[in-house]
Amino acid sequence: MTSNNACTVLVTGASRGIGAACALACARDGWDVAVNYTRDTAAAERVAREVRALGRRAIHVQADVADEPALLAMFARIDAELPPLAGLVNNAGVVDAMARVDQTSLARLQRLFAINVFGAFLCAREAVKRMSTKYQGQGGAIVNLSSVAAKLGGPGWYVDYAASKGAIDTFTVGLAREVAAEGIRVNAVRPGIIDTDIHASGGQPERAHQSSALIPMQRPGTADEVAAAVVWLMSDAARYTTGAILDVSGGR
Ligand code: NAP
Repeated sequence: MTSNNACTVLVTGASRGIGAACALACARDGWDVAVNYTRDTAAAERVAREVRALGRRAIHVQADVADEPALLAMFARIDAELPPLAGLVNNAGVVDAMARVDQTSLARLQRLFAINVFGAFLCAREAVKRMSTKYQGQGGAIVNLSSVAAKLGGPGWYVDYAASKGAIDTFTVGLAREVAAEGIRVNAVRPGIIDTDIHASGGQPERAHQSSALIPMQRPGTADEVAAAVVWLMSDAARYTTGAILDVSGGR
């Protein structure tokens, strides 16, 4: 989008994968970018450098989105160091090792929902406080990363992860309607199987390519293909689109 001069987007979980691709796609579309991450400072610094090489401003900000004080400190840094926030890509998300529901621990559920659901809620809360016309903001756009697992349920694999993304779908529709008259659009992208490191973090590094037969288009997607949908939903070209959930899944 070209109308975002001097507007900032926060992309959570942007040190690699879909988040890093979204940060760069947003920068190409005119956004200044806050690159959030938890562990890999060198990777987040690299993404911020690439954003600056595209002529936009960028900072890398370490914060676990499930840690409320750290999250509030991140927003305070963005307020202090970048132009006003007008966008949020709620991308940070995790899976866990393959497990059936009858093998699921409370600790696993708490970690998964704290990051995938509560983190997205809290980031959206802080973004709305800054962007809503109700709070004298200038409006903005939020895109949440869901998953087609929300539709498929993840049986035998990670029903808990799928359920966390089902919550994101409902959150997207509800928040979209709540703030539609306050200048904020809220949408979701529901990726299918995308070739990123997330599968290795769940103990299945080859999952993306081994799953091709499950995908009507016969291949996993790329982070850039997901980012293209995200950046469109963030842009003024999508100005009449809110509460939408867009599958980017090769037909899955
Ligand atoms: P990924 O490659 O594992 O990257 C995850 C990113 O999130 C990293 O930058 C990581 O940073 C960061 N992160 C992890 N926990 C965090 C936390 N608590 N707070 C802040 N940042 C955190 O994942 P991905 O595949 O790009 O997935 C991105 C999103 O798309 C997730 O919401 C995922 O559920 C969704 N999605 C992915 C797929 C897929 O097949 N890949 C499919 C559907 C949906 P550090 O490494 O620095 O900790």
